[in-house]
Amino acid sequence: MAKKRRKKTKKTGVTARFGARYGKRVRDNVKKIEEKKRAKYVCPKCGKVSVKRERYAVWKCTKCGAEFSGGAYVPQTEAGRIALRAVQAGPKAKEVLVEIEEEEAKEE
Ligand SMILES: [Zn+2]
Repeated sequence: MAKKRRKKTKKTGVTARFGARYGKRVRDNVKKIEEKKRAKYVCPKCGKVSVKRERYAVWKCTKCGAEFSGGAYVPQTEAGRIALRAVQAGPKAKEVLVEIEEEEAKEE
C-alpha cells in the first residue's frame, strides 16, 4: 500500500510560513481570510465550482472565462449584495434601502 502523504502542518495551515511570529490571533485572522481567498467558488455564469481570485477584488472562472469584480477576498460581500439590490431598484432605491435596514433590525 502506498504511503499516505503526511501533512506538513497540523493546524497552522497557510500561516505556517510565519513560524511563531506576529502572535496567534493575528495568524488566525490571516488564515481565515487567506483560506477564503484561495478557495474556489460557484460561477454565476456557468454554475461550475471554478471561480478563483484573479487579483484584488477580481474573480475569474477557469472554465468559462467569466471575469467579474467582487469583494477583496470573497467573490461577494454583504455590502455588495445590498448595493446591487439598491442599484436594481433604480429610482426606488431609497425605499429598498429602508426596507433592508428594517429587515436587519428584525434579525437582531
Ligand atoms: Zn464559469
